[in-house]
Amino acid sequence: MTEVFRGTFTQQEPIPEEGIAAALDVLRSGRLHRYNLAPDEAGEVALLEREFAAHTGARHALAVTSGGYALATALRALGVKPGEPVLTNAFTLAPVPGAIASAGAVPVYVGVTEGLTIDLDDLAAKAGQARVLMLSHMRGHLADMDRLMAICDAAGIAVIEDCAHTMGAAWRGIPSGRWGKVGCYSTQTYKHMNSGEGGFLITDDDEVMARSVILSGSYMLYARHGTVPPEEVFERVKYDTPNVSGRMDHLRAAILRPQLRVLDRQCEKWNARYRVVETGLRGTPGLRIVERPEAGRFVGSSIQFLLLDWPAPHIEEVLARCAARGVELKWFGGAEPKGFTSRYDSWRYAPHPPMPKSDRILRSILDMRLPLTFSLEDCAQIARIIRAEVGAVWQAGTSDEDRAASA
Ligand SMILES: *Cc1c(COP(=O)(O)O)cnc(C)c1O
Repeated sequence: MTEVFRGTFTQQEPIPEEGIAAALDVLRSGRLHRYNLAPDEAGEVALLEREFAAHTGARHALAVTSGGYALATALRALGVKPGEPVLTNAFTLAPVPGAIASAGAVPVYVGVTEGLTIDLDDLAAKAGQARVLMLSHMRGHLADMDRLMAICDAAGIAVIEDCAHTMGAAWRGIPSGRWGKVGCYSTQTYKHMNSGEGGFLITDDDEVMARSVILSGSYMLYARHGTVPPEEVFERVKYDTPNVSGRMDHLRAAILRPQLRVLDRQCEKWNARYRVVETGLRGTPGLRIVERPEAGRFVGSSIQFLLLDWPAPHIEEVLARCAARGVELKWFGGAEPKGFTSRYDSWRYAPHPPMPKSDRILRSILDMRLPLTFSLEDCAQIARIIRAEVGAVWQAGTSDEDRAASA
């Protein structure tokens, strides 16, 4: 009998009870706005900022409305101007080039490797074209950050890290988000902490922080923040930094604080699930595992594998067969973007010259979310199903070719 997976790929864990209680306290107080504080009250948002800065080791943290907002704020805080080129990944999600476009700037796409990281040779070749790289650690795959920073430092490029998929990850022990000038995070429901919508920006740079705080909509209330640069820095920037409101509120902060306390444990739970699926898929004919480098500590909240150089109809058949057995795979190679699977040539508001090397890889990427509501047994079952269906299509495909070759 063929087994069918009955779980749902979009079901999250509940918010911790402690967070629910703190949220109710905020609701009862009526003080939801981050600057609406009782005398001597720091407020949930400022406390969360302090705790997030401490967790990442950054000097400053700013809580905002979304990850995409954090990315756009980082660009503005770095003084990116309309029309300015900004380097970014050809393989990422739409809010990344979208943040660049929202600042009126122009994405310049850098290719993707078979390791699903940014192509550092392509980055080196394009380094002269921009003064900012918005680096997306897409699906948690960390590039060789030592080499990446060497390329960017040599070219005078400031790096903004998109850590939407790497909250809790690190390269050589240094947290993702701490390599570049600014690190940006999302606390949207499908990321590593869940406040529905939300995000963070971290930096060690006082001026970038002061600008970001004012950009986020602080008016002149910036002293109420969790981590505050010296007053003279605000004096320098406060008249020429626009207010582009995107504040976080106490309600969201209240439910995030207990989640931050258990983040490391959650990351271990994701990785345990990831390793079960990875082990189950290893050795499947025609299927390429995307290996995780030793130097990286990753968070396996999703898994990708490659069906390199497979004809599109065969990949579509794998998708259909897995779906029929309850396993929802997403494909970054379809002719049309579906759900969240767009890619550089779907973002036609910016120039997108063909990138054949990257196209070959993008066409091969299958992607699957691993919510913590899945048990280890669920993960083992999912891997068995994928293995069987990839194997079946591969075998049929190979015998097609054999028949064609012998005809
Ligand atoms: C989710 C996501 C973002 C944006 O986060 P939002 O909070 O949804 O704006 C940015 N980059 C990547 C790679 C993401 O997955």
